[in-house]
Amino acid sequence: MHFETKVLHAGIEPDPSTGAIMTPIFQTSTYVQASPGDHKGYEYARTQNPTRDVLQKNLAALEQCNHALCFSTGMGAIDAVVKLLKPGDEVVSTNDLYGGTYRIFTKIFEPLGIRFHFVDMTDLKQIEAAITPSTKMIWIETPTNPMLNIIDIEKAAAIGKKAGAMVVVDNTFSSPYLQNPILLGADIIMHSVTKYINGHSDVVMGALCMNSLELRERLAFIQNSCGATPGPQDCFLVLRGIKTLHLRMQRHCENGKIIAHYLKNHPKVGKVYWPGFEEHTGHEIAKKQMKDFGGMISFTLKNDTLESAFTFLRNTHLFSLAESLGGVESLVGHPASMTHASIPKEQREKSGLVDSLIRLSVGIENIEDLKNDLEKALQMV
Ligand SMILES: *Cc1c(COP(=O)(O)O)cnc(C)c1O
Repeated sequence: MHFETKVLHAGIEPDPSTGAIMTPIFQTSTYVQASPGDHKGYEYARTQNPTRDVLQKNLAALEQCNHALCFSTGMGAIDAVVKLLKPGDEVVSTNDLYGGTYRIFTKIFEPLGIRFHFVDMTDLKQIEAAITPSTKMIWIETPTNPMLNIIDIEKAAAIGKKAGAMVVVDNTFSSPYLQNPILLGADIIMHSVTKYINGHSDVVMGALCMNSLELRERLAFIQNSCGATPGPQDCFLVLRGIKTLHLRMQRHCENGKIIAHYLKNHPKVGKVYWPGFEEHTGHEIAKKQMKDFGGMISFTLKNDTLESAFTFLRNTHLFSLAESLGGVESLVGHPASMTHASIPKEQREKSGLVDSLIRLSVGIENIEDLKNDLEKALQMV
């Protein structure tokens, strides 16, 4: 089956008891047993739910792997992955990381005895240099947030494998439509389903995808023990959102490309970060591992001050100022004061995250309307 068919059909069957073509919302906390232990595969909804099962089968098919587990949030999924480790274990990760991931690593797990090394993963030598005999996990995020650097998944995964470490890829920015890290050697794919996969900014959810049954069982055990499971209504909404994932991603990429070029030629704009530019340092790797370049763009203003960034942000109307990304509607964010405020300024600026950096999640609206909206705001700067 091709991707466009899988989003509609993989793991999805009409309900056997009624013929309902859409997966029902099984809004139940528990399931009747005929006698102790004699049940239909479902005991308690923290452990299993039929609506969630269908979504998990669909997601595994989209990531071209054997298993998927859905979590209440992306952070819930990340939490479960790190709980595979024990005190003394070390993780090598990128220094240009989603702010919430950086926070859970440094504020929650470091005090519990797990060590994290943040390196520039676009330079494979830095990954090798950070590996020690205690390295048990390599945590990759690409394209990175918000600098849109590209990490070579295949090469980074090979380094991790050689060291005997588990390789995890946060694939949120690409979605399974643009990139399938398991095919490139990753052991676990993490998604914030909240973003492109659901795509309608009305659900928070996370997911993990993997090939190994042993890993699936360990993660399901952690999930059932710790409790970060999603509700059936949210699973239904995500199943509905997924049906148009390919169409949405195509339009995000088309619009993204036009906006990236528009910004690059604009006199008020400084740098534009988008992996589709030939001169982007990760362009060749992006071409190799992604189907297209996505709808995420970051840029700075020539007048690189907090004030001019705020003026811009107050004057867009279609691009709404909000956290999050990947929805059908266009969003604009200011990483230094929003998503990445938990990262110290010095550390931020080392990776290019300056005060005037603005991040766009380009939606699927009419492209002329989007350009006009940006133009009006840029004129105010
Ligand atoms: C949003 C996001 C997360 C966290 O997911 P939630 O669903 O918000 O908990 C993790 N990684 C990336 C790249 C994200 O964008």
